[in-house]
Amino acid sequence: MFRWLHRIRRKRFLREGLSEESCYWLDFLPVLFDLPAADRKRLEGLTRVFIEEKHFEGCGGQLISDKIRVIIAAQACLLILNLHHDFYQRVRTILVYPSTFKHGSTWRRPDGIVVDLESANLGEAWPGGPVILAWDAAYQGGRNANDGQNTVFHEFAHKLDMLDGVTDGIPPLTQDHEKNGWRAAFLAAYEQYLQNLQAGRPQIFDAYAATNPAEFFATASECFFELAVKMEAHEPRLYALLEKFYRQDPARRSRAVLGQ
Ligand SMILES: [Zn+2]
Repeated sequence: MFRWLHRIRRKRFLREGLSEESCYWLDFLPVLFDLPAADRKRLEGLTRVFIEEKHFEGCGGQLISDKIRVIIAAQACLLILNLHHDFYQRVRTILVYPSTFKHGSTWRRPDGIVVDLESANLGEAWPGGPVILAWDAAYQGGRNANDGQNTVFHEFAHKLDMLDGVTDGIPPLTQDHEKNGWRAAFLAAYEQYLQNLQAGRPQIFDAYAATNPAEFFATASECFFELAVKMEAHEPRLYALLEKFYRQDPARRSRAVLGQ
């Protein structure tokens, strides 16, 4: 019964999309400007469902507004625009801090001594838990669509990776992807990236991607949506892998808008 009601609600939100007031905030996200009208309409519906179903919570004195919900939700939904998905089903809450937040954790040294660690972060994605974002970074990342840095894309790409319960840089794949060796090709791209980095060859994305395959997937996803044309030219194999996974071709979208 509840599932049935849930499905009806979802369908209604997808059909209705966003109000005119909420749509206003989409104009703050240049990455959406290249979307064809039908995709843009669909994105509005997804964004509405996301906002209705997720709980946004302000932390560190941050107040939550429609602007914050729309800017975060629309960027998160761009990633799933063409995927089979259930709206990041394991994400129930998005915690929003005004700016960089500190997260304390502990680390057990090999000699058994537990050390307190405290790091300053712009975003975090907890397996089975919330996404945590610094609002200034989430906003600036959206406002500047050409620098390959986008905290919302990064953290929600981690959430896609985590959907199968493992954070390893390999999101759940379709049978088609499995058959065509997506996993092996992606890990080979990661190895190639490490080699290029070591050899001092110029890279189009942040060295943080070298941390592990999970960070490589999240960082490459930022570039895929923000520096698509450049990535397609410099990293054609990696671009093709992400194009296959996301079922989107943002480089083609950009060229279509530029009339190239
Ligand atoms: Zn990360």
